[in-house]
Amino acid sequence: MRKPIAILIWAAVIASLVFADVTTIERIEMKRDRSWDYLDIYTTGWSEAKGLLLENTLYLDFPNARLSRKTKIFRRSSKRIQSISIIQKNQNTARVVVALKKDIDYDVVNVFGRNKSVVEISDRLENINRFQFAWESKYTKKKGAPLKPVKFTPAAAGSLRGKTIVLDPGHGGDDPGAFSLSGVPEKTFTLQTAQRAAKRLRQAGAAVYLTRNEDRRCNLKEVAEFANRIRADIFISIHYNSIYKSDISGTETYYCNPVSRKFAEIMHENIIRGIKRKDHGLHRTPFYVVKNTQMPSVLLEPIYLTSPEESFLAGSPSFQEELAEDMVKGVIEYFRSKSG
Ligand SMILES: [Zn+2]
Repeated sequence: MRKPIAILIWAAVIASLVFADVTTIERIEMKRDRSWDYLDIYTTGWSEAKGLLLENTLYLDFPNARLSRKTKIFRRSSKRIQSISIIQKNQNTARVVVALKKDIDYDVVNVFGRNKSVVEISDRLENINRFQFAWESKYTKKKGAPLKPVKFTPAAAGSLRGKTIVLDPGHGGDDPGAFSLSGVPEKTFTLQTAQRAAKRLRQAGAAVYLTRNEDRRCNLKEVAEFANRIRADIFISIHYNSIYKSDISGTETYYCNPVSRKFAEIMHENIIRGIKRKDHGLHRTPFYVVKNTQMPSVLLEPIYLTSPEESFLAGSPSFQEELAEDMVKGVIEYFRSKSG
């Protein structure tokens, strides 16, 4: 009689050791006050939740976590949240999917020691795109210098062999764009970033066109027409953001046409995970160059020049290199996802 009991005890010990590492989501509680919705998400162990906002869906990934049939979701009515569900994203990641009723901003606070993540959800600033549209209406009418694209031929036989990529550094010439707090114009940062990305993309085997490779302003119509005419595989417009409030910082990515959606999602995720700034989401917005190009296209706004911290980052070569690397990772992942 002794032996079976000992075996049972050992089995229990081994099981507890094996399963001790598996974190599950215990419960999700919706809370709110006047200007915020909150999700309190309790896990059985430590898991650092990471958010990703793609249009009207907020994804919250819990690494090293599994689904549990016992997870409880305490719902309540909200002006911002449509529904909450949980899926197993992959073997190691549990994902909370929050469907939204409107444009939001969010933050995730992981409370170490309490195995709890708090997601704070608020309304997105309504007039956040105002400057970009005002600038566009000016530069689709005004005639700039003729477009003078510069081609970078492939430098190696990498995974992007046979691909043609157009990089469009925003602004230039008599159009400086926004200014960093130390007075450097956006047009300088966009060109530097595009040049760094071009170098990496041609190393990966792509043919790369820059819509400008000097301090020059071109009409946005010509930019879009050029990308269409050469039948580029993808198009990336690079900007640095600005707003009237210095306390706003973070990353936004824009696309317009349905053909661009997958590419835009992948680019946004790679940039969010890479440069690690606040995630302001992927948005579908009819900005001129993403609306008028026929291939998958995105417009990047990685950081805000009007934020003291990010204004400093914009001028940092290591930041620009990180961003260029994330762009290339996104491009490679996109083509891989299409062929696979
Ligand atoms: Zn801009």
